[in-house]
Amino acid sequence: MKLLSFHAANIPAGGSKRLGEQEDYAASICSLASRKSNEGETIVNPQFQEPADGRLCFREPIPEIADAARFLDAAASAHLRGRSDLAEELIRLADIPEIAAWVESILGSKSPYVQYRDVSDAQPHVSKEERVTVRMPRQAEKHSLHLRDGYCCRFCGIPVIRRAVRDRIRKLYPRALRWGKPNVERHAAFFAMRVQYDHVVPHARGGNNDIDNIVITCAPCNFGRMSYTLEEVGLADPRLREPVTSTWDGLERFR
Ligand SMILES: [Zn+2]
Repeated sequence: MKLLSFHAANIPAGGSKRLGEQEDYAASICSLASRKSNEGETIVNPQFQEPADGRLCFREPIPEIADAARFLDAAASAHLRGRSDLAEELIRLADIPEIAAWVESILGSKSPYVQYRDVSDAQPHVSKEERVTVRMPRQAEKHSLHLRDGYCCRFCGIPVIRRAVRDRIRKLYPRALRWGKPNVERHAAFFAMRVQYDHVVPHARGGNNDIDNIVITCAPCNFGRMSYTLEEVGLADPRLREPVTSTWDGLERFR
């Protein structure tokens, strides 16, 4: 099976760096961001090619997502050092338009990356009365899921962030972390990275609420699948491979 080029293990841990190193690091990623803005549009290849054993995710993450994760990780470190000016700038730098375009290319019924097919022996849809009544995991279960899955999407591997953490950062930096109602008014990286608790066997197909049936995902990987089975969308079972291991902490230290 082909491995994704993106791997969150490359995200450095700002928390482990000494002060001088952190500032050098922040300066170097700021210059990286300005180079990025001069590059052309991200090339979209809408060819639907599905290997026999299923794809890992609908669309491979673009490199800008790893860049954004580095900016946000550095923002958390800058904030904790009292450098709120730098933290604010880094949060803004992570708001990369190419990431918003990546998300939008996966969401929606017209996405060239998400296609469904009939599978004759797929689990049938079950009526609302027959579904497991408690749909979402409880708080303690969510915590276990985050630890198990390393705060990264089990399909595409990108880092994820809990809503409570996003709200916390938004209170501290409301201008940098924009979060309007329409998608276009949302910070692109926080939009892509907002965590979802995805039922591998969909809830609407009789999937239960055990944590063995739930994986952490990013928003596009979850919304793209809706209530289709993995086989119906041609995705490999993410539980058959190890979660991403990295130093990404979901920005949980941001306080
Ligand atoms: Zn994903």
